[in-house]
Formats: sequence, structure tokens, C-alpha cells
Amino acid sequence: MTTTKYIFVTGGVTSSLGKGIISASLAKLLQARGYSVTIQKLDPYINVDPGTLNPYEHGECYVTEDGAETDLDLGHYERFLNVHTSQANNVTTGRIYQDVITKERRGDYLGKTVQIIPHITDEIKRRIKILGTLRKYDFVITEIGGTVGDIESLPYIEAVRQLRWELKNQTLVIHLTLVPYLAATGELKTKPTQHSVKTLQEEGVQPDILVLRTEHPISDEIRTKVANFCNVQKEDVIESHDVKTIYEVPIEMQKEKLDEIVLRQFGIEPKKSPDLIPWKSFLNKLNNPKHEVNIALVGKYVELKDAYKSINEAFIHAGAENETKINISYIHSENVSEETCAELLKSAEGIIVAPGFGHRGINGKILAVKYARENNIPFLGICLGMQCAVIEFARNVLNLEDANSLEMDRKCKNPVINLMEEQKMITEKGGTMRLGAYPCKLVKGSNAYNAYKTIEISERHRHRYEFNNSYLDMFSEAGMIASGINPETQLVEIIEIPSHKWFIGVQFHPEYKSTVLAPHPLFVSFIKAVVNNNNR
Ligand code: GLN
Repeated sequence: MTTTKYIFVTGGVTSSLGKGIISASLAKLLQARGYSVTIQKLDPYINVDPGTLNPYEHGECYVTEDGAETDLDLGHYERFLNVHTSQANNVTTGRIYQDVITKERRGDYLGKTVQIIPHITDEIKRRIKILGTLRKYDFVITEIGGTVGDIESLPYIEAVRQLRWELKNQTLVIHLTLVPYLAATGELKTKPTQHSVKTLQEEGVQPDILVLRTEHPISDEIRTKVANFCNVQKEDVIESHDVKTIYEVPIEMQKEKLDEIVLRQFGIEPKKSPDLIPWKSFLNKLNNPKHEVNIALVGKYVELKDAYKSINEAFIHAGAENETKINISYIHSENVSEETCAELLKSAEGIIVAPGFGHRGINGKILAVKYARENNIPFLGICLGMQCAVIEFARNVLNLEDANSLEMDRKCKNPVINLMEEQKMITEKGGTMRLGAYPCKLVKGSNAYNAYKTIEISERHRHRYEFNNSYLDMFSEAGMIASGINPETQLVEIIEIPSHKWFIGVQFHPEYKSTVLAPHPLFVSFIKAVVNNNNR
């Protein structure tokens, strides 16, 4: 395609309607037709990035290859498309303002009054267009966070209005709304949709396609009604009803012809519909499991499943790959004590200790590691989970009773987990961790190597603390080895206990790289170990 087409996805009526999944599904369908597609998320909050947000606020923080701390929707984009995103794919109001204010301080505006229009909107437009100009994608899908009518999203909608004017038929707006069902009268109601489209129109933007989120099928009559009230063709009003898994949504959107509608509106003749064979084969395995396993996830944010989004999804991918249904029980690390540990973990056939920050719940995590190690239960520790495995081993096998991480005890005498050298001078919190992809070399014959089946790997990181190499010999002699090491800095990236059935801790976050078509080798191998163990 000669010119990049820009598709904007807005949301009305309520938040959490699944704009990210609709965007990712459309991208998947266009990608399957051979187009190059990328997705961008614009977030209307003032944090410069979600890295400083507590997971309770906004769910998991997703990390890209280039080390950007981003919205969890970028995880969906990567899992659906199997291509990497970057810093450019997630922009917040905070970042926009930070850039504009930096330019103002530099004097770039030559004495002009700096205003929302045009300066903030220009910066938003630049950030949208950059994806089309730098990489020359066929389609850039930009999801506007929040709900139409919010004060925060006004500059974004205004930027969309301006871009539509500038780029004319190279742009398209998809508006996602809710059609609620009133049980008392047994009716689907379209009024909230009419109002949200009206709000969008008041802000100067006419949507081209409406996606109606619903719990019940939308009748022809309702489509006609919505089309008439909202100035949209009836065939461009489609429904998105609730499905069992988000991975069904591309198939549903294909049935509703979302990709064909988009192409037709851009004046592109849609060729034969893509068959999505690998995707359907994944769904088939997911929906027809041959085995079932129980995994306990021990973490401190378990009340909010979105806090462990990528881990949950990585399990779904690994489960399908192993044709295994995975039941995850979420165990609050603060509830795990000497007294409760065995009871809470008694049905766990595999244990995962989650990433995290700070002291809260740390003892429960260490007890869960101990339980997995002593009872020979397959174990995966991620980031803080790996650090807990190191502390547990130091305390209970090496008999270093006061062993700890410097994060938990600043004055610790046996800091088996140390603050990284380059972190010692850092005082600011935002974007200052060791972030993004780093290489790692695996020890041949180790369980990690058996999972990856290659020596050189690259994984994404998000941490300040690390394994303290001055203890490495003690650990190896006692049976916990470093099976993955950064070839440049010698940082320990993977530990494992070779005598255990399957016990691996990783300093990085494998979950960020698991996708539908490339399930992560460590998760696949972990689940395989659990299945094999159960079938013995
Ligand atoms: N708090 C630990 C560190 O900063 C672990 C971080 C994590 O689990 N992502 O090193």
C-alpha cells in the first residue's frame, strides 16, 4: 500500500468494553490478509508511563523489548500479532505534556503562548503519525483510552478530528459502545449508544463503524435503529457479544466482517477472507484439552487478576500447547504462614511465585518456595519469585539464617540479593529500573536449556536487585546452579535445582514474550513437567 491508513478506536458508555481486544482482533485480521499493522494506545492519564502505578490502579505494567513500561493492552497487541511493540506504541498525557513543556523551556516555541490547541494536539498528532512515517505500516490502529465525554480524552478526540480533516479518506473511526440488556423488560437498549455517538459528534468526530458490545444477539431492527440515529450505514453496525475467551474475538469479528468493512471503507477491494488456520488450531487445542492441572500462583496482588495479566495469558498459551486445561488458584502471599502453607498449597501440582516489589507478603512467598522445594513440586519463580527462591535456599539449605534481599533489609549481613551496581546512584523512580531485553547464555543440559533448546536467548527485565555473585560458589556446591548468565555483565538470570523435578527461577519476565503462535518455552516446559509428574 502506498499510504498508511489510520484507524482510530474510541469507546463510549463505559470503560472496560474491550477496545484493546477489538483493536488487536482487527489488526490480526488485517495482518492475516498480508498487511503490515501496528497498534498504539493513547492513555489520558498524567503519569508519564504506567511504570510508577500500583498494579491495583491499572493492572500489570507491560514491558517492551526496548524497555518501555507500558499499558497492559500492548501485551494483547503482541500476543495477538506476534510482533514486538515499542515505546512509540504507548503514549500518555503525561508524556505529551512533558515533551511540550521541555520544548517550551528550550525556547522552541519562540515566545508564543503554549496552549492545548495547537501545541498539545500537534504533539498528539505527531505521536500518531510517527508510526506511519518511521516504519511505513499499511495500517496504524490507534486506541484512545478512556470513554468519550471524559474531560481527559478531549485533546485526543480533537487530535483525531484534525487528523481526519488533514488526511481525509486515509482515516477511519471505529466507536465501541455497550448495548445493555434490561432483564425486567427483556429488552436491549440503544439510548446509551445514541448518546455516546452524539457526544463524539459534538466533539467534531463522526464514527464510520459502530461495534456494539452486547450479552444478547442484536436484531436487524436494532441495527437499523442505531444506524439511523448515528449516521452510520446499517451494514457498518456490527455486534461483539461475550465469548468464552478473548482469543475467539478475531473469529467473531471475521464473522461480522469487520476487516472487510474497514477495507471497503478505505476503497480497497477485499480479497478472499483469511483462513486463520494456526489461530484456529490454537483455539481447537485450547477448547479440547486432554489433561488438567492445578497451579497455585502466590502473589500479593491476587485480588486483581489484571495484575498478573501476562502470566495468566502465558499459561493459556502453554496450556493449549500441552493440550492441558490449567486451573490457577490465586493465593495471597500474606495469607501464607507456617500454619497455613501446607493447607493452602495442598492441591497445587505446580507452584509459581509471582513478581513484585517491597516487603509485603514476602514471607509467604518464601514459605511457598520452601514447600515446592521440599515436596518436589514443579516450581517457577519470576523476578521477585526467583529472588525468594534464592533467599529460601540460602536460609534453609546454606543455613544463612539472616540471608535476605537488600530490598527487604537494608542492613542485611548476608545480602544474597543485592542492589545492582548501576542502581546505587539512582534516586528517581520513573523508568529507572533495568528495563527491556538483555541477552542470556544458557548452560547446556540444564532444564532451562532443555526448555529453550538453544544456548543464546534474550528476555525482558524490570528490576533493581540481582543475585549476589559472591555467593555463587556456595549455592552451586549445595545444589542450586546458575543455568543462565548475562554474557556481558555476568548477572545471574536463571537459577535452578538440578536434583529437583523442575525448579527454575528467572530474574527476567518470560510472560511478556509469550504469544498465541509462539507460546513461551519456559511456561510450556513447566506445564509439561506438571502433566508428566501427574501421569507417573
Ligand atoms: N523488587 C525486585 C527488584 O526490583 C523484583 C522486581 C520484579 O519482580 N519485577 O529487583
